[in-house]
Amino acid sequence: MADKVRLGLIQLCGCSGCHISLLDLHEQLLDVLPNLEIVYAPIIADVKEIPECDVFLIEGGARNEHDEHLIHEIREKSKVVIAWGTCAVYGGIPGLGNLYSAEQLKKTVYGTETTDNVGELPSDEMVPPLTNSVMPVPSIVDVEYVIPGCPPRPEINAGAIVALLEGRDPELPKKIVCDECPRTKENVIPETFKRTFEGTPDPEKCLFEQGYTCVGMGTRAGCGALCPSAGVPCRGCYGKTDEVLDQGSSLANTYAAAGDEALKISDKSALFNRFTLPAALISKKQE
Ligand code: SF4
Ligand code: SF4
Ligand code: SF4
Repeated sequence: MADKVRLGLIQLCGCSGCHISLLDLHEQLLDVLPNLEIVYAPIIADVKEIPECDVFLIEGGARNEHDEHLIHEIREKSKVVIAWGTCAVYGGIPGLGNLYSAEQLKKTVYGTETTDNVGELPSDEMVPPLTNSVMPVPSIVDVEYVIPGCPPRPEINAGAIVALLEGRDPELPKKIVCDECPRTKENVIPETFKRTFEGTPDPEKCLFEQGYTCVGMGTRAGCGALCPSAGVPCRGCYGKTDEVLDQGSSLANTYAAAGDEALKISDKSALFNRFTLPAALISKKQE
């Protein structure tokens, strides 16, 4: 790779949180910036044309035809494309929109009483037409690397950038969140499931075994078990591990051990595929 790496960044169907996570490197950024030339980043500078890039970080998947077009253009103009953050890799939270049709979403967003101009749907001339579903970047073009996480922790971003600068492949953690979690497992199957903030969990014991809907057992490590360490069940934001095809199916398998109690959990699609529905084996509600 050339001395100065020409870097592009873009936010598509994401929230900018992955960009903020990069800024959260603080002074560590100063170590890598001299080796980078940021040639395209709409979040910090208004550049109309996407230039040729060595590395392009795409935050967010595609929710409309313009996003899809940009992803193809970035692929054509970049040597290395990275699907950056869970929205880009798996669809992320916006991917739960795939439980509804594009028409249903438009009617809800523009036709409810919480918005201005109730009932007035924007025309395709006003906003780019929605695609039928949220599509993760790797489902549209080939990418060299993926960096999951919502957002990926700053040190994961730093590790990936440094690896690329040194000509190495960025590596992702192979383990699951449970492997990083300080809580103790006693191989107990929950008798019933609780709501996330129901009662006060034992601070030492596994949240799942206490009946909280933690999904750390089916989620890639890397965050340091941030949520269960703070008493909050893991929501699965780093997606699946390399060992399984589908995060939702592997979690459903674990929860099935609780028998009928697991069947009573409401909104299981959002529990098992909260961040990964567009990349799931069953990814789109059929009309
Ligand atoms: S992965 Fe998370 S932080 Fe990044 S764009 Fe999506 S919602 Fe935002
Ligand atoms: S609390 Fe969650 S992440 Fe921690 S060990 Fe239990 S299932 Fe795994
Ligand atoms: S504990 Fe789970 S939901 Fe929380 S940051 Fe880690 S992977 Fe994401």
